[in-house]
Amino acid sequence: MIKTDILIIGGGPAGVVAGITAKKHYPSKQVTLVRKEEKTVIPCGIPYIFNRLDSVDKNLMPDQPLLDNKINLVIGEIIEAKPKEKQIILENGDVFDYDKLILALGSTSQLIPIPGIEKEGVWLVKKDYEYLKKFREVVLKSKNVIIIGGGFIGVEFAEELSGIKNLNISIIEKLDYCLVTNFDEEFALAAEEKLKNRGIKIFTGKTIKEIGGKEKAEYVKLDSGEKLASDLIILSIGARPNIELAQKAGVKIEEKGGISVDEYLKTNIPDIFAIGDCAQTKDFITNKNIPIMLASVAATEARIAANNLYQIELIRGNKGTIGVFSTFIDGLALGVAGLTEKRAKKEKIDYLIGEAEAPNHHPTSLPGAEKIKVKLIFSKSSENLLLGGEIMGPESVGEMLNILSLAIQQKTSLFDFNTWQIATHPLLTSAPTVYPIIAAAQNAMLKIKI
Ligand SMILES: Cc1cc2nc3c(=O)[nH]c(=O)nc-3n(C[C@H](O)[C@H](O)[C@H](O)COP(=O)(O)OP(=O)(O)OC[C@H]3O[C@@H](n4cnc5c(N)ncnc54)[C@H](O)[C@@H]3O)c2cc1C
Repeated sequence: MIKTDILIIGGGPAGVVAGITAKKHYPSKQVTLVRKEEKTVIPCGIPYIFNRLDSVDKNLMPDQPLLDNKINLVIGEIIEAKPKEKQIILENGDVFDYDKLILALGSTSQLIPIPGIEKEGVWLVKKDYEYLKKFREVVLKSKNVIIIGGGFIGVEFAEELSGIKNLNISIIEKLDYCLVTNFDEEFALAAEEKLKNRGIKIFTGKTIKEIGGKEKAEYVKLDSGEKLASDLIILSIGARPNIELAQKAGVKIEEKGGISVDEYLKTNIPDIFAIGDCAQTKDFITNKNIPIMLASVAATEARIAANNLYQIELIRGNKGTIGVFSTFIDGLALGVAGLTEKRAKKEKIDYLIGEAEAPNHHPTSLPGAEKIKVKLIFSKSSENLLLGGEIMGPESVGEMLNILSLAIQQKTSLFDFNTWQIATHPLLTSAPTVYPIIAAAQNAMLKIKI
């Protein structure tokens, strides 16, 4: 039997951030991190192993930060957790005694029920080094690639693969447009336009009737009757939280599938925490359970859990997941934080919209000047708080979006934006006269009677 103070199961973003934070916060405690895989890939970099990175090996998470922080790294699969005994058991029979257990078990992509889905040539998006090496080789030998699912992973794969010569790429999305669950229509359609410009064919509002072929997938038949030739099908839908180990140990699971946690990421069992993709997220605005699985969310949860393992030391817990997400398609950065207009309508929230467009440099005659578009959603209540925002434009909008996320978290009102003090520079930002986040807030302000 091996003793450790803090035991973390999982070597993805959640586990790594939890390990390092815990060690920094409780330097005298022994921290052990157990993960299945010898080499861990950076999940968000997976779409880029095919062309931009040109290899799976260039997309590995380094172990050095774990070793530098004197975290005991163990490679192996945990097959059982025994909360009463405060023990976990590895498949090789090793037993670890823990004081605090952090479940950072992650998520796994699953096959979905489509006739023919089991055929050779259908690939899932797995966070698995060896699998991705084979996957990469197969992609590079392919001709007709069909991506099922126009969510952010499908779209990022399509964009990346469109940079490889002689690949015909199609996306099939059963909803009305790609990125439909992330963005409002005008932003999603701008992304689709970029994809089409790169020669990607997009079939929206269509479902798959069958994946056909003898043993190998040779074609995909759509409900509309179209038949698309394929030698490679990428399934970019259906990731589910890994909860089986926790469930067997008696940890409570939410109806939507994630491990039930409180604001400090504690489960129903004393001294067991759950973070990252395996834990259930609650929406910051509506407080309803939502299925958000992002590395950035995993890292936030990891910091909160690891800071508060022994007692609630840092008063702030997790007040809910804002759901802040960005992507980059053919030179266009798109980001969303909090509610979109579509979700505000669905939730029957009374809202005000503010919109603005402005160049990212001033004067616009400067080389590289591009347009930034901002859409903000404020509550219509007396406080007029920021509930959500979408931005698209050049690379700088990635960080502008993160400002919006903090503004939502800090319950910033429309009037706060009007008095917001900012830095501007011709080569770095929009002009102070038209700064698009402020201009969008002012646009919303015109719609209320003060
Ligand atoms: C292609 C792709 C692109 C993405 N892009 C982005 C992006 O741009 N931005 C973003 O924020 N998010 C992105 N995500 C989502 C992000 O990858 C996940 O949210 C993130 O990986 C979650 O981290 P995690 O640590 O919770 O889980 P995971 O990364 O899934 O890690 C789980 C870990 O648990 C270990 N484990 C599980 N069970 C056991 C066991 N029984 N014994 C031992 N070890 C075990 C696994 O081995 C693994 O190490 C992307 C995901 C994919 C697939």
